[in-house]
Amino acid sequence: MTIEAVWPWLWAVGGLLSGSFLNVMIHRWPLMLAADLEDAEHEAHARQLTLACPRSHCPHCHAPLTVLQLIPVLSFVWLRGRCGHCRQPIAWRYPAVELLNTAWWLWCGLALPAWLAPIPLPGAMVGLPGVHNWGPSLAWSLWGSAVLALAWIDWDSTWLPDGLTQPLVWGGLVAAGLGWSGLPLPQALAGAVLGYLSLWSVATGFEWVTGQEGMGGGDFKLLAALGAWCGPMLLIPLVLMASVLGLLVGVVLRARGQLRDGRYIPFGPFLIGAAVALRLGLDRLIQTAWGVS
Ligand SMILES: [Zn+2]
Repeated sequence: MTIEAVWPWLWAVGGLLSGSFLNVMIHRWPLMLAADLEDAEHEAHARQLTLACPRSHCPHCHAPLTVLQLIPVLSFVWLRGRCGHCRQPIAWRYPAVELLNTAWWLWCGLALPAWLAPIPLPGAMVGLPGVHNWGPSLAWSLWGSAVLALAWIDWDSTWLPDGLTQPLVWGGLVAAGLGWSGLPLPQALAGAVLGYLSLWSVATGFEWVTGQEGMGGGDFKLLAALGAWCGPMLLIPLVLMASVLGLLVGVVLRARGQLRDGRYIPFGPFLIGAAVALRLGLDRLIQTAWGVS
């Protein structure tokens, strides 16, 4: 069997397995953070919680999942969306996260190297053409998984854990240094610094004028991370798109009375949605429109 024949399967399996782990992160990270803040309500349960322990179990009957029940997506289909033990329904978000993540990994593994290659940036891709150009594919696959988890955690809890945003900044700089992100290292550095400072200055100005906190510090680190991967040129369209999207969703939620009391609409999912849209080809359109290459 040639490497070309197994290549798509490698990315499909990688996406399913990492997607399964993302579900654990999305579910447990906010509980672990709440325990760190000694939130009394969560404390007793969450104290011993880590990403690895205890084993995955049904949230209703707490029966641990068997090896077969841990198989991503397929077990959901096989069990027709219900716990194999107590028959309570399993939330649709578990297979949704796994499928989204797998689609992204497949796109990165099969289409991305060819997609990145024509971008006439200095410091072009290092590596061989075609399927052996695994560096950019792996780098962007992991990026996608990290931002998918961040978007979901932020939406659920309005937290953007440092444990994810900070490695994403460093990862962007390393990937640029290796020629894997398609971005020259100076641009990745500029993107990270400008990403952080732009939101930080807006938030500090807002706080200074109104005396209220308008944005969480996690948003600065997230935009630093996105800047390290997408470059400084895309920061302005990224923030603009995210603001418009966030405003629209906020208006709809308010009209339907679904706005959560005293909690801001998290900005992270919109920043991430805009970054994914840019990576999927909107960046190419913007660069053409601006005459930047
Ligand atoms: Zn159960």
